[in-house]
Amino acid sequence: MATKNKNTFEFAPAPESTGHIQLRDQYDLFIGGKWIKPKSGKYFKTINPATEKQIATVADASEKDVDLAVKAARKAFKGWSQLPARERGKYLFRLARLIQEKARELAVIESLDGGKPIRESRDIDIPLAAAHFFYHAGWADKLDYAFPNRSVEPLGVAGQIIPWNFPLLMAAWKLAPALACGNTVVLKPAETTPLTALKLAEIIEEAGFPEGVVNIVTGAGKTGAAIVNHPDVNKIAFTGSTEVGKLIQRATAASDKKLTLELGGKAANIIFEDAAINQAVEGVINGIYFNQGHVCCAGSRLFVQESVFDEVTTKLKARIENLVVGDPLDKNTDIGAINSKGQLETINKYLEIGKDEGLEMFQSSCAVPKKGFWCKPTIFTGAAQSNRIVQEEIFGPVLAVQTFRTISEVVQKANNTPYGLSAGVWTDKGSKIFNLTSQLRAGVIWANTFNKFDPTSPFGGYKESGFGREGGIHGLEAYLKFND
Ligand code: NAP
Ligand code: MG
Repeated sequence: MATKNKNTFEFAPAPESTGHIQLRDQYDLFIGGKWIKPKSGKYFKTINPATEKQIATVADASEKDVDLAVKAARKAFKGWSQLPARERGKYLFRLARLIQEKARELAVIESLDGGKPIRESRDIDIPLAAAHFFYHAGWADKLDYAFPNRSVEPLGVAGQIIPWNFPLLMAAWKLAPALACGNTVVLKPAETTPLTALKLAEIIEEAGFPEGVVNIVTGAGKTGAAIVNHPDVNKIAFTGSTEVGKLIQRATAASDKKLTLELGGKAANIIFEDAAINQAVEGVINGIYFNQGHVCCAGSRLFVQESVFDEVTTKLKARIENLVVGDPLDKNTDIGAINSKGQLETINKYLEIGKDEGLEMFQSSCAVPKKGFWCKPTIFTGAAQSNRIVQEEIFGPVLAVQTFRTISEVVQKANNTPYGLSAGVWTDKGSKIFNLTSQLRAGVIWANTFNKFDPTSPFGGYKESGFGREGGIHGLEAYLKFND
């Protein structure tokens, strides 16, 4: 399971927080370093998907609020971009350290607001968010080394729109490189998971950032569209669905906004007969059930070499029986709540589609709580390339299993979706890994592991999974203008 998949880096442990969760009943917009009421006076609820209870109300930002935020970011841009670069680095370092200090509180809020297991928020999301700020703090005064003999400057105001599956981590992926490069930001978290971004705004205040450098505006899709369409925004960074990504691409086509899109995926996880099967089964479980399968790079298509199909599927079925589905705040939980009612409906629709397509469905027999949104870990076997559950992103704990005989067959099948974000290969043979990685059309390919992330590694897609990279030197390019 995901929690066994330890990250590859470690930091000195942050001082333990008190464990006390401080949440307001109502959140305004964080604009120009102040908390401002939305012009419309409208607020929306954010709920805990495990209980369906309201946690807080959050400001619904209109075009006018977005305009204020963009103006604040523009006003702050000159000062921020002309600050000695090492000073910008110090702010990012301070922010990273504060995230570490408040890690426990942030992890609990992330699990409350979004439904993910606390072990994942605590061991993966929050430490990785801090790691992104630490990493980019180091880049702030080294851009000359990153791009030797090139003349670079920040783009200006960056509009950033993020999804609900890794709320704080996605905020970190977006903010850290933008700020390190000298840009100012207007960021919109997803409607169902705004709380850790708002908590981050409080931390940004505490870190003493100059006002207007980071502005956080909450709202639904139309708030995102207002950022995309604002004429004084120089860059749009979007992570979300391919559908909305295409809308944004169209909306920005005639402008000079620099655009990066991190979109959907339908990753192939490929097990060869020579693989360490138990390890591979564990990797498949982590690949698809981590974060309820709400993962753009989830290993949602499993390809098993024919000779080991029975062994792999028998072990997979036994393993999902042991996964604990339930309270996200319980540290024994493996699979938390589905993020929203809407997402649960989408997943259930795909379960029906899979059954209608004649596939064999296997679900764990565990009980799930009555209140809240839940989906048991699910496996479909007997899937074919043409099945909708093989071609379309479900974004839930649903695995489609297919078989293959030869390398060329599996390469052809693995590449045969509109997406190209990630893939996994399980084999004892290094030569097979090299062969596969050169043929698979995926931005990230893991060998004998899955769902490993590190700020030094670029992440991003091919085909309809988007363009541009986040992380590493590549991620900095997305926030710079090259003048030569
Ligand atoms: P989504 O519906 O596309 O939403 C993403 C963000 O865009 C949300 O903040 C959303 O606001 C906002 N938005 C919606 N309509 C918009 C519009 N017309 N203009 C501007 N912004 C708009 O995606 P999601 O359902 O939240 O996230 C799931 C999708 O994200 C999956 O397809 C997944 O694969 C993809 N994803 C990709 C990556 C990656 O790195 N490649 C990472 C994570 C997720 P509201 O939600 O508040 O309405
Ligand atoms: Mg919520």
